[in-house]
Amino acid sequence: MVAKYQAIVVGAGLSGSWVAKELCDQGIKTVMIDRGPDVVHLRDYPTASKHPWEMEHRGRISAREREENPIATQCYNYYEGSKHFFTKDAEQPYVQEKPFSWIRGYQVGGKSLLWARQVQRWSQHDLDGPAQDDFAIPWPINYKDIEPWYDRVEEFIGVSGEYDGLATLPDGKFLRSIGMNVVEKHFQETVAQNYKDRHVIYGRCAHLTEVKEIHRQQGRGTCQHRVICERGCPFGGYFSANSSTIPWAKRTGNLTIQAYSIVSHIIYDDRQEKAIGVEIINRETRERSQIYAEVIFMNAGTLNTNMVLMNSKSPRFPAGIGNDHQLLGKYVAFHNYRARLVAETGAFKDRVIDGRSMTNAYMPRWKNIHSLKEDFKRGYAVAFYAYRTYIEETTGVGEDLLKKMTKAKNFGLWQIDAMMMGETIPKFENHVRLHPSLVDKYGIPQLVINVDYDDNDQKMMEDFYQEMQEMFQKANFSNIRKIDSGQAPGLDVHHMGGARMGSDPTNSLVNKDSQIHSCKNIYVTDGSCMTSTGTQNPSLTFMALAARAANHALETYFK
Ligand SMILES: Cc1cc2nc3c(=O)[nH]c(=O)nc-3n(C[C@H](O)[C@H](O)[C@H](O)COP(=O)(O)OP(=O)(O)OC[C@H]3O[C@@H](n4cnc5c(N)ncnc54)[C@H](O)[C@@H]3O)c2cc1C
Ligand code: SF4
Repeated sequence: MVAKYQAIVVGAGLSGSWVAKELCDQGIKTVMIDRGPDVVHLRDYPTASKHPWEMEHRGRISAREREENPIATQCYNYYEGSKHFFTKDAEQPYVQEKPFSWIRGYQVGGKSLLWARQVQRWSQHDLDGPAQDDFAIPWPINYKDIEPWYDRVEEFIGVSGEYDGLATLPDGKFLRSIGMNVVEKHFQETVAQNYKDRHVIYGRCAHLTEVKEIHRQQGRGTCQHRVICERGCPFGGYFSANSSTIPWAKRTGNLTIQAYSIVSHIIYDDRQEKAIGVEIINRETRERSQIYAEVIFMNAGTLNTNMVLMNSKSPRFPAGIGNDHQLLGKYVAFHNYRARLVAETGAFKDRVIDGRSMTNAYMPRWKNIHSLKEDFKRGYAVAFYAYRTYIEETTGVGEDLLKKMTKAKNFGLWQIDAMMMGETIPKFENHVRLHPSLVDKYGIPQLVINVDYDDNDQKMMEDFYQEMQEMFQKANFSNIRKIDSGQAPGLDVHHMGGARMGSDPTNSLVNKDSQIHSCKNIYVTDGSCMTSTGTQNPSLTFMALAARAANHALETYFK
């Protein structure tokens, strides 16, 4: 039997689930194909309600696991309670021509189960970046083109935020904020008193601090501040594809989920001059089969989307689909998360944090906003948070231990942590390509990754240290220390580019509506279409662009 649908979505993660939702809502028979297992909301969160002592290693990971997974275990979020949602290194080896930590989450829901839920809109200043600072190619879209889709996504997923009125970080559709703590507010006031161009704001996050009708219809409830979201949330308190977009799309009766199926390539028909389907490999049996549809959406996650497109060779496209100019896989970019500045303060000793916060404070980019003024291009945002340390006495046993643990906490000083979120410049040399002979266990060519930091990143880090130190000193913070994690690109988990968007088919892969210029019935609707990276956490923009493209397909192919 030939498997035929109206639309194929490759990758059932954060962005793909948005395409599926938009299509299924309008009656389009859609198959969402994923290489990982199905993860059904509530049913498949095995650790969501486990206490540390109910886990074999009390929540920690063993030395052997670390040894076997030197890449995946680098992620701060990888521990015994969440490790089942991370892809193990052996599943998909790749060649690091330069160090690159490729963090992956292969299951229905993708990395939306694991993400930190930080969401900020791009502004027109970000979209103007390449033209203003003279790099990459100009974006073919403006803020006004994405704005209604940001509205749509935010209202549906639920975003806790405050109305800040900043041109550099447009406000959205927000649920109530849970506010900042006393030290974060102190820093906010100090910065406001000393700088006109800088703002410390509450970090917008995809958590339900209140439940509107649209969330009730999704069956989601208010966030309980458990902050163990990466295990899957039984309340649906944060946005994951599993708790929100996927069950919504399923309820329409139009969605088929095809799990354990690796898309190896897109099938292009030279006679019809269009893509007609995809070839899949069953992950268990290794059997190959085909699925056909009128339109195909690529949402496998940036590097996997690049891989599948490069592996989709035909007489018309010998170098990969849409790749007449040999630019597919080039201009891959990421975020520079290496630099931190930490400090402490002896003030506010009478204050502690009551409860847990799901977010932090945030400083939108303030460098090179209207023109290039620094000796580096673009700039950085800052994630800022403060916390009070405490020493818990855990020696002894029985009643003695109980007494020590339940006595008033012995509080230390407030600690302060600021992390740079640097925009990197997409460059031709930063690229991925298929290895000519090395394949994985499914026979798919391995990806060669050649992506690195550059001089611009270094200069930006120096500027961050200097500027942040000055702001810390003005706030009377002490014991200020610089940290350079030295981490490889990739660990930031914000992978972008390779199939960039542009209006000129000779230097870009997709057009302003996310269609491949030379094969319009393929939409590239994940981070691979990003022409530049901005400083914002990117997933809100991925979702907005995915929803926008799905609606373009509805108008173009299914009217
Ligand atoms: C620890 C962590 C924290 C993060 N924090 C944030 C944050 O605060 N804010 C933010 O904006 N972003 C954050 N991110 C990044 C965010 O998770 C990703 O940007 C987002 O999930 C990307 O969406 P996607 O749909 O492109 O990919 P994914 O959500 O990863 O989905 C891709 C899907 O494609 C499937 N797939 C891959 N290859 C194939 C194939 N060949 N065939 C079939 N299926 C395939 C995978 O199994 C997967 O399910 C974080 C990520 C991590 C890991
Ligand atoms: S913090 Fe909120 S979203 Fe996260 S697990 Fe807890 S209830 Fe769920």
